[in-house]
Amino acid sequence: MNDEEKYIARAERMITRWSGQRMPVTRKHTDEGDVLRHSPPATGELDADKHFYVEPPRALPVLATCEVLVVGAGPAGLSAALAAKRAGADTILLERFGCFGGVITTVGMETLAWYRYEGTVEGEGIGVEMERLAAQMGGAIKWPYNDSECLDADFFKVVADRLITEAGVRPILHCMAVDVIFEADSNRLKGIITESKSGRQVVLAKRVIDCTGDADIAHLAGASYRKTPKDKMLGMTTVFNASGVNKQKFLQYTEEKPATYADWSRTWAQETTGKENELRSPYLDQEFDTARELGVIPANSTNLGGSWSALSDAGEATNLNLAHMYGYDATDVMDLTAAEMQGRQEALHALMALKKVVPGFEDAKLRNFGMTLGVRDSRKIIGRYNLTSDDVRNQAKFEDSIGIFPEFIDGYNVLILPTTGRYFEVPYGCMVPLEVDNLLVAGRCVAGDMVSHAAMRNMMACTVTGQGAGVAAAVSVQQGTTTAEVSLDAVQAELQKQGVRLH
Ligand SMILES: Cc1cc2nc3c(=O)[nH]c(=O)nc-3n(C[C@H](O)[C@H](O)[C@H](O)COP(=O)(O)OP(=O)(O)OC[C@H]3O[C@@H](n4cnc5c(N)ncnc54)[C@H](O)[C@@H]3O)c2cc1C
Repeated sequence: MNDEEKYIARAERMITRWSGQRMPVTRKHTDEGDVLRHSPPATGELDADKHFYVEPPRALPVLATCEVLVVGAGPAGLSAALAAKRAGADTILLERFGCFGGVITTVGMETLAWYRYEGTVEGEGIGVEMERLAAQMGGAIKWPYNDSECLDADFFKVVADRLITEAGVRPILHCMAVDVIFEADSNRLKGIITESKSGRQVVLAKRVIDCTGDADIAHLAGASYRKTPKDKMLGMTTVFNASGVNKQKFLQYTEEKPATYADWSRTWAQETTGKENELRSPYLDQEFDTARELGVIPANSTNLGGSWSALSDAGEATNLNLAHMYGYDATDVMDLTAAEMQGRQEALHALMALKKVVPGFEDAKLRNFGMTLGVRDSRKIIGRYNLTSDDVRNQAKFEDSIGIFPEFIDGYNVLILPTTGRYFEVPYGCMVPLEVDNLLVAGRCVAGDMVSHAAMRNMMACTVTGQGAGVAAAVSVQQGTTTAEVSLDAVQAELQKQGVRLH
């Protein structure tokens, strides 16, 4: 390096330090790799009570720029990204974990469409496409009592990879959205701040779709939302998988002791329309009472009971949805910590009970827990339109419909299965936050009351809002409007082109 080059390098280092950027400086080159050292952060300030630390300002590198950014890759996020890209937008799908699929792949919930008893009307679209592709690729097992598929949770990671690769969506994994960026003096979003192993960075986008399940982006952007009071929140669950199950012996047991949806009311009050009560349900519940009486599990393990789903010929029982926790808030890191640890313990209790009490499970062992706790309930935005119990129970129709969903309600003590052909339309307005523009919210955090959430939280419903939001974001970019002002005629035309049933 000559003197001039040394001077420029020093000046660059100083500018970088002043701007708060933390860039690696090569100290020494060796054959085993360069010796690197980052400049340490500038010092911020602790407030007097030591409750807050004020960070010094710093310049963040831009990781990527796109037209449509989808944050969160569950059923909603996958559908949103595929739909936006298919509608012509340069699209990024960004996810905090190392795989796409959300609750399917990270929690291990394989039952995407278990509600599909005879008489169900489907909305078609990307959700059904994902189910069919998983089955075609050999990554699904038939659900016990109707024509739907249980997705193999691990295999679905590959199905999702294939879908987004073939569509040309740009993937970013292991990356968490932690803040938002607005256009100057405006309520229009123009990107997010991320944290990952690469540090704190920025992704710029013309439109952002929040598919985080918890409405993280809407919350960070200052949009209004509601949270169900903790004592009424739907429970969290640690899903687990067992191996060493004697499938035939267990199936014989379920024939000798058949369960129906009426059995769900044994441990909690439940409203049905009556027709559900006779339908077979893959349900285990009384078995845990027996295990408690036998002293196999502690008397206070009272939140055990629920569904089994997929049984493989290799003796695996997956998607065991049996160990639940209540009174935890999924947006509180200490609640999440406690619930994760309690969930593993409760799941082990469930397995101990199955081994002792349920024929076919005698030699079963824990194969694995879902890689994270399953959360059903957290923030729901206040939208341009807030869905109601009446809408989802009474076949609501909307001019701004972006798809339909069968009359399937599961939660807050209501269970209605769509065996009658009844369905409701899903309005664009439930994805539009009031205070923030160029942001759409899809998936389980759309706007609505508790009973409407019991419908909209279902994975297929999340794919309906995901696809609707993806198309609307892409169309708004093409038309040069914001998401709040986008032409619904153009959005509906593109959705129909993509095979979605609107009415
Ligand atoms: C135990 C359990 C059982 C269930 N059973 C069924 C069932 O049988 N059938 C059914 O239809 N539904 C079921 N549900 C409901 C359904 O699974 C969820 O409501 C649905 O998956 C929600 O989809 P989503 O795309 O909105 O969010 P999710 O599937 O939760 O996906 C959100 C994604 O966003 C990512 N993310 C979150 N925050 C950030 C961030 N800040 N930055 C980057 N990424 C982020 C997450 O990692 C995740 O991948 C169940 C739910 C649970 C928990």
